[in-house]
Amino acid sequence: MLLLPEWLVTMDPAAGTLREGAVLVEGPRIVYCGSREGVPELPPETRVLEFPARIVLPGLVNAHTHLPMTLLRGLADDLPLRTWLEERIVPAEARLMTPEAVGAGARLGIAELLLGGTTCCADGYFHEPVVLAAAAELGLRGVFAQGVLDFPAPGAPDPRTAFAALRDHLRTGAGGLQSPAVFAHSLYTCSPATLRRAKALAREFGRRFFIHVAETAWESDWCREHADGLSPVAALERQDLLDGDTVLVHAVHVSPADADLIAAHGCAVVINTESNLKLASGVAPVKAYLERGVCLALGTDGAASNNDLDLFGEMATTARMQKLALGDPAAVSAEVVLRLATVGGAQALGLAATTGALRAGYEADLIAVRTDVPHACPLYDPVSHLVYAASASDVDLVLVAGQVRVQRGTLVGVPLGELMARVQALTQTCDIRASRAEPKARLGSTRPVGL
Ligand SMILES: [Zn+2]
Repeated sequence: MLLLPEWLVTMDPAAGTLREGAVLVEGPRIVYCGSREGVPELPPETRVLEFPARIVLPGLVNAHTHLPMTLLRGLADDLPLRTWLEERIVPAEARLMTPEAVGAGARLGIAELLLGGTTCCADGYFHEPVVLAAAAELGLRGVFAQGVLDFPAPGAPDPRTAFAALRDHLRTGAGGLQSPAVFAHSLYTCSPATLRRAKALAREFGRRFFIHVAETAWESDWCREHADGLSPVAALERQDLLDGDTVLVHAVHVSPADADLIAAHGCAVVINTESNLKLASGVAPVKAYLERGVCLALGTDGAASNNDLDLFGEMATTARMQKLALGDPAAVSAEVVLRLATVGGAQALGLAATTGALRAGYEADLIAVRTDVPHACPLYDPVSHLVYAASASDVDLVLVAGQVRVQRGTLVGVPLGELMARVQALTQTCDIRASRAEPKARLGSTRPVGL
């Protein structure tokens, strides 16, 4: 098909942003992207799609989420992270998260991602083969990381069994648009031995290793107390966990020396501004990372701490929050934030050779955003609108690997009503609010010292 949008934002430095551009898609790939004058001769059966009031850009990349946690959306708001996690989320997960529930929550999350213009994600959860299978069914590209931690978790009531599930996932999970990875929850839920073993498996299979790190001031204090005064990032380095395949999630409470370490080891960092704001965790030092050339991506985190999976909202909040935190309206521009949500995400997930930008030879992961709406009028600069004015509901068309997944703002071939009814039924028959009365996990309280 040949797409002829009014605006084409390629995110390819060589092509930039074009008025009246053209994208030619054959099968799963882009074969031409550029001006209309340069379009090659078209095969006779080519479908030509005129988009007079649309911006076409690469599909967005959500580099950190927990898709099944859509089932916990709105269950526990307005609480600090430890109370939220220990007293509400962990007990609710123990009660609710069967493989069937994980599959339903993942499908709901994937539907939300696709409808909001996200074509690729990095997920981290338990029963991750179920999440990966849901992504394969609905056509979302992504990296699906099986979780390990030293506490009972969904699918691994005995933590000693977690590694068998992880190895299985790494061995069998690759194929198509989805690949497996490793998700070690955090320093305060995983012993040093668990962390090293998880990273060793990631290295053995050549996969990404994700970990929440330096999310809160409490975590930093806890780490210094248990790791000879080291910061969380320095503690990871001491365990030989930092390299170009490690993706650090949050990395909010970091010193300049920590940022230097992250840059020196070539780790990627995923910024989750809305989750950090809602849990009052802090503001990640985006500018410090950019100055050091750290690969940066954007994530929404799970729906239990955001409470949506909307990367348009995440872009807008990130740009505005950085300006406020630094007292500088020029601190982080719209162009930079859009780069984080596209090219940066693809780089963080190891997919930048074929995704994250619109370019001949790349995968046809692209979206069209409506501009025939009041909040996009007038239009001087499409990148400004994408970051500061557009919303997920403006997404009109979504292609993943050349397949149409959203058309005229509606999911193609997915019975969304049935899916939502299933989720409603699951969450109502299992009264997860009652889980408040159950014994609480005390994260960080039982770990061996000596990180
Ligand atoms: Zn997270």
